[in-house]
Amino acid sequence: MFIGIYDSLRSAYYAFFVPTEKGITPHEVAAIKERTDKSFRLADAESDRDLIKLFTHLYKKAGLIRQPKLIIYESNKPNATCLHTGSIMLSTELLDRQTKAELAATLAHEITHLAQKKAIHAVDILQEVSIIGLTTLIGVSVAKRVNPKERASTKGILLIGTSLALGERIVRRLLDIPAFMFQRACEFDADRGAVILTENPEALITNLQNYDTWYQSTQNPDTPVKGQTFLNRLYSNHPTTQERIAHVQQLKRRLKMENSKIIR
Ligand SMILES: [Zn+2]
Repeated sequence: MFIGIYDSLRSAYYAFFVPTEKGITPHEVAAIKERTDKSFRLADAESDRDLIKLFTHLYKKAGLIRQPKLIIYESNKPNATCLHTGSIMLSTELLDRQTKAELAATLAHEITHLAQKKAIHAVDILQEVSIIGLTTLIGVSVAKRVNPKERASTKGILLIGTSLALGERIVRRLLDIPAFMFQRACEFDADRGAVILTENPEALITNLQNYDTWYQSTQNPDTPVKGQTFLNRLYSNHPTTQERIAHVQQLKRRLKMENSKIIR
């Protein structure tokens, strides 16, 4: 619980109060360092002209008022992420692999996540507050059952302390289920945003398939592929690739985007 609160406060502090260095905040640098120990930079209008042009077209179309920061970092993993700070990060491997249409789908997906930011923060806060509330309730009800004379004894303190610690673990584990459900819903929503912004569902489907192929290629062929267990799915922040592709195909039929020609 305390780690969760500390993380949220630290993110808020970095996002709002720590001055930026070369336009990238320390919080963003910390997020980049989790992904690479190589170089990183802000995309700039000179050397990344086509990328910026595509990005500007999409974020304006999405209705975002301020231009989000676009950070490029060197890595051999094809990856795109959006950060709490409202910036989007792209790896060099992703930029090398994707065509313009595929890149548009990636950017549009991440831009939609930025539009979801407020709701994501609200759910994070709600989750932490609920965890504190429910854990306190467990602590209080255990304390009530302990003989008043024993409450201040080592045994009493140990019992109440253990129930608080264990209670927090259990409550968090339980509340993670709706939180992950919300995150999976956000993924579907971001895919929908990508389809609507680019009008090119095929590019998004290609991205999903390519990422899956790349991911499989990184797995050791000698280790047997484990099926998705019920628990795995329950605690996953992303729907499966198959689910996402089926969702995009359904959207394509509904939105009648057979002959799209916006970004190719
Ligand atoms: Zn996403």
